[in-house]
Parts: sequence; C-alpha cells; structure tokens
Amino acid sequence: MQQRQHHINHQSIAPIGGQYIDVIDPSDGKVFTQIASGDAQDIDLAVRAARAAYDSAWGRCTATERGRLLQKLALTLAEHSEELAQIEARDCGKPLKQARADAVAVARYFEYYGGAADKLHGYTIPYQNGYTVMALREPHGVTGHIIPWNYPMQIFGRSVGAALAAGNACVVKPAEDACLSLLRIAELAAEVGLPPGALNIVTGLGRLAGEALAKHPGIDHISFTGSPLTGKLVTKAAADNHTPVTLELGGKSPQVAFADADFDAMLPVVVNAIVQNAGQTCSAGSRLLVQRSAYEEVLSRLSQAFRALKVGPAAMDLDCGPLIRQSQLARVQGFLQQAQADGLRTAGSGQLVAEAPAGGFYQAPTLVRDVPPGHQLAQEEVFGPVIAAMPFDDEAHAAKLANGTDYGLVASVWTRDGSRQMRMARQMRCGQVFINNYGAGGGIELPFGGVKASGHGREKGFEALYGFTVLKTVSIKHD
Ligand code: NAD
Repeated sequence: MQQRQHHINHQSIAPIGGQYIDVIDPSDGKVFTQIASGDAQDIDLAVRAARAAYDSAWGRCTATERGRLLQKLALTLAEHSEELAQIEARDCGKPLKQARADAVAVARYFEYYGGAADKLHGYTIPYQNGYTVMALREPHGVTGHIIPWNYPMQIFGRSVGAALAAGNACVVKPAEDACLSLLRIAELAAEVGLPPGALNIVTGLGRLAGEALAKHPGIDHISFTGSPLTGKLVTKAAADNHTPVTLELGGKSPQVAFADADFDAMLPVVVNAIVQNAGQTCSAGSRLLVQRSAYEEVLSRLSQAFRALKVGPAAMDLDCGPLIRQSQLARVQGFLQQAQADGLRTAGSGQLVAEAPAGGFYQAPTLVRDVPPGHQLAQEEVFGPVIAAMPFDDEAHAAKLANGTDYGLVASVWTRDGSRQMRMARQMRCGQVFINNYGAGGGIELPFGGVKASGHGREKGFEALYGFTVLKTVSIKHD
C-alpha cells in the first residue's frame, strides 16, 4: 500500500519513528492509503527547516515577491482544483460539490492573501517634538498551524495563506483523518517556487505531532482550529514558551426566525447550513429558533425538506455524505438516542440511498423539535447533521436563547424589520452575524472567529494579517 510522507523543506521525508497511520475512506470504511505518523523528532526537523527559510531565502523576499508567489500558487491551485476536490472527497467523504467548493476556496484564499501581501503596513505616531515614531508590522517568524479534519483545504488556506503573506514560515499539522489534499498542495507550492522550508507539513496524531508542535520552543505563534478541549491543551502547552495562540473552536450557532421573515428564502438556507459537510462545520446552523406564531408553519415546511434529503457516498454527490469516522458517527447517534430517551420528537429525517456501501459512516439529517433550551441537544456541539428547533416569544426571549450556550461563533437573524435587524445584531454575543442570510464559515474576506468557548482571535479577511504579525514601535530622536 502506498505510504505518504511528511513534506519538509520541499522533500518527501519518511517519519523518523517509522510509524504510519491507516487512512480510511468514510464512504465505505475501507483503508486505502497510509500517512506518516509524526512525532516530536519530525516536528523538530520541520521547525528547523522553517527557521532556516525564515532566516534566508523566504525571509529576504520582499512583500511584493511573496505576494506574487502566493498568487502564482493560487492560479496553480485553481488549475488543479478538480484533482484536489477528488482527493478531498475520498479522504473526508465530502460530496463532490462540497469538495469542489473547498478547492475553489483554497485557491481564492491564496489569491486574496497574495494580493494583500504588499498592502500590509505599519504607521507613524505623532509624538513629542524632535521625535519620529513608527510602528512596524513584522512577521512572528515561524508559525505553527494545527488543522482539523472538517475543512482541511479551507482552513489551511485561511491560516497558512495569511501567515505566508505576512512573511512567516509555516509548520502545519493537519488532522490525522484528513491530510492528503494538503500534502498535494505543498507539492504544488514547491512547483511554483515557494522557497524550501517556507511551508512544511508534518502529519500524525494530535497527542504526538500536535502536542509537539504546540510546545516547541522554536514556534513563535500557533493558530489552532479544532475542539474547545484540544484548544485548552494547546494553549497550556504553548504557555510554557509564552507562545501566542489563536483559537478557532466550536459552535452551537442559532438561526433566529421572526414571523415576518421571508420563509421561501430562509428555508433552503437553514437546511443547507446544517446539511453542508454533514453538519461537521464549526459554524453549522445547529439551532433553529422560531417565533411562536410561525413555529408550526416553519417546522412543517422544514420537515418536508428534510424528508427529501438524500445521503450516500461522496462520489454520488448527494445532499449529504458520510461522517468522517466511526467514532464521530457513534457520537452523533449517542446524541439522538439520548434525545429519544428524553422524549424529544424527530420532525423529519433524510434517506440513506440503497447504493451506500455498508461500511460507510452514514447519518441521515435529522430535525428534532421542541428541544428544551437546557437540553444537551440545544447546548452541545453535535458536529453532525442534526438541528434542534425551539420556539421563542419576542426579541428579548430570542436573544436570551440565542446567547444561552457556552459558544459564540455565528448567528443569523431572519426578519424584514430593519430596526429589529440592527437591534438583534447588536445583542448577539458571537463573531459573525448574518441578517437574512447565513454563510457557514462565511466569506474569505470577512473576519471570522468566536467569543466564549468558540475561541479568540480572528482569521479571514485583513484581520488575519494583523494576527500573523507583531507591531514593533521605533522611536527616533532627532533635532
Ligand atoms: P480536534 O480538536 O480533535 O483536532 C483538531 C486538531 O488538533 C487535529 O489536527 C488534531 O490532530 C490536533 N490535536 C488533537 N489533540 C492534540 C493535542 N493534545 N495537542 C495538539 N494538537 C492536538 O478537533 P476535530 O475533531 O479535528 O475538529 C472538530 C472541532 O473543530 C469541532 O469542535 C469544530 O467546531 C472545530 N472547528 C472549528 C472551526 C473554526 O473555525 N472555529 C473550524 C473547523 C472546526
């Protein structure tokens, strides 16, 4: 069976410990390749390669040269988008349309950040007479990027694209369940001429390779995307070296529908926001809050829509693919069994197609109604295609429910009332609010991130470039 190696210094490097991890196709549950199982020694090699690049060819590139290289990579990624989508669909079980959207997005991230590289600048500060003071915006140096399995290409693009544009050299630890597209992107980066060592990928388990990266003293900044629990471990590991950490964590994002909303426009968006990527989206719209007077109408229409949803293997490109792995399926099923045991009712669920291989990790999209606000289905991140619906009475009640979880990533508000739109947007405790629309993860150009257990720091948009730089104040005394 083919074995994939680490990508360090633009070379394919076998794991020093000689261990490999099976890669399973979620659509049929079968092993189809293996990835290197990295440990602290491999991470150390990659960090040294990144530091050497930062201190030489990559560090000496002008912002314009960096930008051109990243834009060249963007074009190459666009040319290879179908290949990348096919890799991602198999590796992650994504329906092809989702994998294709992810491939388009990663190219766009490099286009965006490539274009921004030479527009990132510091400023001067009025000070006392006889002084000129400037704030220089400088890269951190070597940045570490720990990536989850749900959107490998997109999360790589937003994090590594911005870090490279700002002038950092990167060491990336993808999730053990989803590395293959990123290893291919690193090869393409080598082909377009990104200097060796500027981008390194070490695959492997979180508790080995991930932890080693988080606590490596040669790392100047960590960007972590994943679960709140792992986010804590990464923060603690990084704290020993005082390494700054950006955390992009989970969510329990509400869609708040008032009775005056345009339901024709809203319902397909509500469905997509939980079915997209089989609900394995940090910003999935996993709670639906509907004003009581419209609750039955909305639920009736939504249950019809859910019954029409088809679930099957990635290659069939249906509404919903499999979950990433068996343990994730068991977790989602556990939530639904508990809901059933607690007397909660399913208002509609999708259908698994007959062609779906028996070994795949399939869960039909499920709409659960009248979920009490304190129930675990209304509070905890399921990370599967399950939406919890509940009614509310007025704006104050809606805001209380919407903000009533540990999370604060994304929210949407559906209403035609302009004043209410703004009142509600201001009351939402989260990083992004959509009014009469919803973008799970929404928008390359739009700053994204959480509050509370959803994390801190911002990625995407120009804000990410600020996050991947530090300010240095230079005060010059003259006459
Ligand atoms: P996870 O926390 O289990 O793993 C994320 C990454 O951390 C993986 O690469 C993993 O190998 C690594 N890791 C695991 N243990 C580690 C350790 N001790 N030290 C260092 N690294 C370690 O998360 P997951 O299951 O891959 O992803 C799902 C979670 O990610 C969900 O909670 C989801 O909401 C969140 N997520 C958030 C965003 C966002 O932008 N806010 C985006 C995608 C996913």
